[in-house]
Amino acid sequence: MTDNNQTNQQANDPTTSNPHKALSIIRNTEEMQAQFAHMQMLSRSQPIVDWPTREAQLNNLETLLSDNQDSLAKAISADFGHRSVSETQFAELFPSFTGISHAKKHGKSWMKTRRASISPLYLPAHNEIQPQPLGVVGIMVPWNYPLYLAIGPMIDALAAGNRIMIKMSEAAPEFAETFAKKIAHYFSPDMISVVLGEVDIAEAFSKLPFDHLLYTGSTAVGKKIMAAAAPNLTPVTLELGGKSPVIILDDANLEAAVNRVMMGKTLNAGQTCIAPDYVLIQRQYHQRFIELAKEWMQKHYPNIANNPDYSHIINDDQFQRVQGYLEDLPNDVVQPLTDVAADAESRLLPPVVVTNPETDSEVMQNEIFAPVLPLMHYDTLDDAIGFINARPRPLALYIFGDNNRDIDKVRAHTVSGGVCINEVIMHVAQHDLPFGGVGHSGMGAYHGKAGFERLSHMKPVFVQSKLNGLNLLLPPYGELFKKGMALLLK
Ligand code: NAD
Repeated sequence: MTDNNQTNQQANDPTTSNPHKALSIIRNTEEMQAQFAHMQMLSRSQPIVDWPTREAQLNNLETLLSDNQDSLAKAISADFGHRSVSETQFAELFPSFTGISHAKKHGKSWMKTRRASISPLYLPAHNEIQPQPLGVVGIMVPWNYPLYLAIGPMIDALAAGNRIMIKMSEAAPEFAETFAKKIAHYFSPDMISVVLGEVDIAEAFSKLPFDHLLYTGSTAVGKKIMAAAAPNLTPVTLELGGKSPVIILDDANLEAAVNRVMMGKTLNAGQTCIAPDYVLIQRQYHQRFIELAKEWMQKHYPNIANNPDYSHIINDDQFQRVQGYLEDLPNDVVQPLTDVAADAESRLLPPVVVTNPETDSEVMQNEIFAPVLPLMHYDTLDDAIGFINARPRPLALYIFGDNNRDIDKVRAHTVSGGVCINEVIMHVAQHDLPFGGVGHSGMGAYHGKAGFERLSHMKPVFVQSKLNGLNLLLPPYGELFKKGMALLLK
């Protein structure tokens, strides 16, 4: 199996005389800096330019996942207090497997040097674009989908021929340990190493002179990452958060909209970066929305106090943060959708709706990241669009309705990382669509070809022909030059 691959890779490695012993799992800053220098040196001396080597790494990743699905899902559940195994399969393992298959299917053609068009003025020269590995890519992972948000960027980085250092989240320590051990078993430390530890080592990690740093996490920390990367001019992809709104248009099928919004808000107990954060809805549909949402909960999460399909909140800090938002609100605006109360000990938080809260309330000022759903009233479509545009650009925007003119108007007049129409969340699973934010919800996009190109250097190459007219443009600039320029500048 892969252990053989590992041995082969090390045996073929002419740098084994390097005094640094390559490490798969790193727990302190000194080891991390030495390992980075080692990987950087390898990336310069042995760039991964062929497809079979990249494909073998993707195969390793696939084998790691298929061999260890249960232990990885159990570790995530231990971190959450309880994380539904079905959710881990649906939202983490499934997109990881399909992402790997997609990269294996298309990677060879993505990495081909391709012709680019050329202005007739330069013929018979021609242009090419040559994708090249960047070198060592840093990946920083949040706790909410710690598997998929590690694997997703790794797929793009490996397909693009890079080596990887990855910092796992300290808020999901059980998963971080389990994952690191698996990586150590399936990959050479010359290819991938995993950094474990608290925020201090995360800070040091973000200061390493990576060839690219892909960070997924909060907008607040994203600003620190960009500042830490700046002195090295390390290019960053920032996959951040924020408030992703839903607009329910007045001709929407309300039952269908409630079905999808509730799915998005309850998945992983709302701890999803592209969960619907709040809903813009006309006042007359508000009460019906709540009735339908209660029926939906009864049907899909009966007996929520002991329902294995419903996940818990990751830690006490997150639980208290959300409880704090709710305690700040007047009692009559918070409407539970079940008859089970929140439980601090097990960090169970059954979903609630919040009726038209003040826009300066905590729940409308912050990304909620929990199963709390504000229903904000709007009168006209222009008001709803204005509400969204008065706030930071969202990571996702969801539109429910039938009338294409209104849907097109919302699409054209708002700017968000991505959009779903009559759906939520599913755009993230499309390997043919770039995924990322805009403005405060992030910069740069990855997944599929977009991710491959993001983590490659798409090198432009101009190939001159023996026969060409450029020598006519040399000084001393005589009559011929002047006539030529007069034509070109016309
Ligand atoms: P976070 O920003 O607290 O942590 C993410 C990573 O940053 C962790 O690995 C952590 O070790 C590191 N980190 C924390 N403080 C740091 C610092 N001062 N310097 C350097 N590194 C530091 O985010 P989180 O709480 O783990 O995740 C939740 C947030 O992530 C939400 O805002 C959510 O919307 C966002 N998110 C975005 C996406 C996306 O794809 N856009 C996906 C998932 C989560």
